[in-house]
Order: sequence, then C-alpha cells, then structure tokens
Amino acid sequence: MLGGKLLRVLPRCLGKLSSPQSVTPFLVTSQQTVTSKHNSRSVHTTTGSWDLEEESIFTGDHEQLRNSLKKIIDTEINPFVDAWEDQYSFPAHTVFKTLGKSGFLGVTKPTEYGGLGLDYSYSVAVAEELGSIRCGGIPMAIGVQTDMATPALARFGSHELKEQFLQPSISGDMVACLGVSETGAGSDVASIQTTAKSDGDDLIINGGKMWTTNGMQADWMCCLAITEDGPSHSNKSLICVPMDTPGVVRSKKIEKIGMNCSDTAQIFFEDVRVPKSFVIGEMGKGFTYQMLQFQEERLFGAAGTVKPLEIAIGATIEYTRERKIFGKSILDNQVVHFRLAELQTEIEALRSLLYRATGLYIKGHDVTNLASMCKLKAGRLGREVCDACLQYWGGMGYTKETIISRYFRDFRLLSIGGGADEVMLSIISKYMGTLPRIHPKK
Ligand SMILES: Cc1cc2nc3c(=O)[nH]c(=O)nc-3n(C[C@H](O)[C@H](O)[C@H](O)COP(=O)(O)OP(=O)(O)OC[C@H]3O[C@@H](n4cnc5c(N)ncnc54)[C@H](O)[C@@H]3O)c2cc1C
Repeated sequence: MLGGKLLRVLPRCLGKLSSPQSVTPFLVTSQQTVTSKHNSRSVHTTTGSWDLEEESIFTGDHEQLRNSLKKIIDTEINPFVDAWEDQYSFPAHTVFKTLGKSGFLGVTKPTEYGGLGLDYSYSVAVAEELGSIRCGGIPMAIGVQTDMATPALARFGSHELKEQFLQPSISGDMVACLGVSETGAGSDVASIQTTAKSDGDDLIINGGKMWTTNGMQADWMCCLAITEDGPSHSNKSLICVPMDTPGVVRSKKIEKIGMNCSDTAQIFFEDVRVPKSFVIGEMGKGFTYQMLQFQEERLFGAAGTVKPLEIAIGATIEYTRERKIFGKSILDNQVVHFRLAELQTEIEALRSLLYRATGLYIKGHDVTNLASMCKLKAGRLGREVCDACLQYWGGMGYTKETIISRYFRDFRLLSIGGGADEVMLSIISKYMGTLPRIHPKK
C-alpha cells in the first residue's frame, strides 16, 4: 500500500505549501513558458501528454510527490539560484532542512529513521523533478546526500550508526558527503591510498580525498579507506567520519568551470581517530558496498538529466521562434527544427531506458549494466543537447545571461563525475564479454 504510506507523509508538506505557487524568475523572459505543467493524473512534456497509468513505473502517488517537490523548488530554491551561483555556494543546511522536513531526503529510506520507505521509482521521480532546479549544482548536492553517501549506510549500517548519521541526514539536520575519489584515484577506485589502521577499538585514518561534493559544508563523510591487507577489492571499508574530528582538514574549495554553487573540496586526514563501530557493515566489504551504491548514483544522475535537457530544448524552441534572421524565424529552418526533433527523440530514448532499468531495479534485479548505459547516454546527451541548443542561440548562448550556457557548463560534468563515459563503456563491454582480461605480471 504505497499510496497510503505516501498520503500519510505528504500532508506535512502540502499544508505548508498551500500558498500560491510563486513564478520562478527566469534568466531570459522568453524561457518563461518552458517549464512542465502538472495536473493530478497526466504528464505534459515538450513531446506531448499522456495519462500516468500508461507509464510503466509511475502512478498518481509519484505525481503527487513531484508536485509537492515542485512547489518547494519554485518557492524556496529557484528564486535564489542566480544569487547562489554568483556566490559560488548555496546554504546546504538551510535547503536540506527544507527538503528534509517534507520527506524528500529519505524517499527510499526506512521509516524507522524518518524515511518514507518507498521503492526506488519514487527516488527517480524526485531526481527527475529536481531537474527543474535552474542549475546543476543543487540537484547534484542533494543527490550526494540521498543517493550517493547514504544508500550503503541505510542497507548495511548498524542501528546505532543509522541513528547517528542516517536519521539526521534524512531530516536535513546533517549534510553528508562521499569520499571515494583521491588525487591519484578517480576512475580506478580500487587504487585509492587512504588508510584506516586499527588501534585498539579505533581506526586511525591518514590520506586525503579529492573532488568531494558538499565537502566544505558537510557534517560527515562516507569515506572509503583501506582497512586491511589483501586484494584491492576486499581490503577496504566504508566509514562514517564526522567532519569535525581533529585531523580532518578541509584544505581547499576547488574552482570549477560549472556547477558553480556546489562546493567541491579537497580534504586531508591527519591521524583522524574514529571508533571501529563507525564502519558501515562488515570490514573489508567497502569496495563491494560502494559498487552497489554506484548503481543508485548512476540512475539518479541519469534521471536528473532528463528534465533540464527538455528545458534546454523548450527554451531553444522559444528563443529561435522569436528571433528572426534572413526574414524568418531561426526555428523555421529545417536544419534547426529537425535537429531539435532528433534530440528530443534521444531524450525520450534515455527516459525509456531509465524507466526500464528502474522497473527492473525495484523488482530486485542487478541493473549495473543498464544503469551504466543510462549514465553513459545521459552524459553523452548532456553534452550533445546543450551544445546543439547553445549554437542556435548565437552570441546570446555564449553569455552568462542565459540558462543554456549554464546547462552547457554544468552538464559537461556528467561524462566525467560518478564514473567517466569510458568507465561506463568498460562495464558495458564486460557484460558483453568483450573487455580484454588484464593478466597479472609474472
Ligand atoms: C565537480 C565534481 C564533483 C565530484 N564529486 C565527487 C564526490 O562527491 N565524491 C567522490 O568521491 N568523487 C567525486 N568526483 C570525482 C569523480 O567521480 C572523478 O572525477 C571521476 O571518477 C574521474 O576520475 P578522475 O578525475 O581522477 O579522472 P581519471 O581517472 O584520471 O580519468 C581521466 C579520463 O581518463 C579516461 N578514462 C578513464 N578510464 C578509462 C578507460 N578504461 N579507458 C579509456 N579512457 C579512460 C576518461 O575520459 C576520464 O575522464 C567529482 C568530480 C568533479 C569534477
């Protein structure tokens, strides 16, 4: 009875959100008509409208969840996005508290710890709706909290650990980050060097993490570190590390070409002492847990791409329809409307793949292969759609004044972060049986 469960939870945000929805100030007036419209039973996109029951994985409950989230985004996030982008930071604790109060940080998490206890299709619905935030940085930061730093804790962590770290992350009282990548290990996760050595009942952590999203503001890190001797796939553990522990140094905020309002940190550990009880699940299983955690990260990343790309296409249709050159609208050139039709088709293909992967995932299948395909396709499309659309905006597309240039910068990351395109291709090749085996040196 998912519906009943959801309906019990939603009134706490619906009551608060009963005020009229504010209009999101867009960067360019011509984009104002581009957002998706909602009513209770049907979905409207630039492709068309259809009844929700025709969607394979979604119901009216999903739509209710989306509508509630959209109201929060329109009133409490989007009006401030431009300012946060200019400041190269957004107040994660404030935004997460707002989302946490309404249940959006724990959609799939156990109700015992404040979650909604829903299946992963609801997380995909939320990720898609987060795409209506008018930048990539905030959805990414939220995704780290909900689908990257916490799935392993929710699944394998002890009750005490969940009370200490999961519950406040779901309520929005704590900001989480994920510490996997290092300066010398990004794509090759198995080669991380950070160690957590045993000392009585404690672990002493030394090393460092690179590219840590939310790292400057986070209260705790889900940290992958080497805890024992042995092969690289079974010598690591995932550890909850409170970021105020002595020896944790937030060394620098990394300057990037996009995702401006999301903070990305380099972090060092200098003899950081944490109790062994802060290890998630079994010692030595961290690499395996992280690989499982990546499935959700990749589905979430792909889901978060669909709506912004549709917004990009919609905004481009509006702009090119209004802009007249050589005596006609730019849009009326066949090369332009055919190209946009082509890209819209690609987005629909991504959506179908995503829903299929999600449908199988909620039925308990291992969807590593399909999730990798989703992530690959989303990364490729993020580049292709934004680049093609920006071109049709001419000089305006090259300014910071338009949403299209922000998307162009922000969505470039998707082919790199959370596993580069080539890593996805390696995984898919492995499933196809075409990845050459690396023979250890004799
Ligand atoms: C803004 C941002 C936020 C991030 N947030 C986090 C975070 O919160 N937590 C975290 O742990 N990490 C985070 N990352 C790290 C991210 O996951 C890594 O950047 C990514 O995995 C790539 O690793 P790398 O940068 O070390 O590139 P490298 O591993 O050095 O790879 C460089 C390039 O080599 C190519 N390549 C890789 N493998 C192959 C192959 N098998 N065959 C051919 N070519 C290949 C790819 O094109 C890849 O882009 C973030 C990164 C960025 C930029």
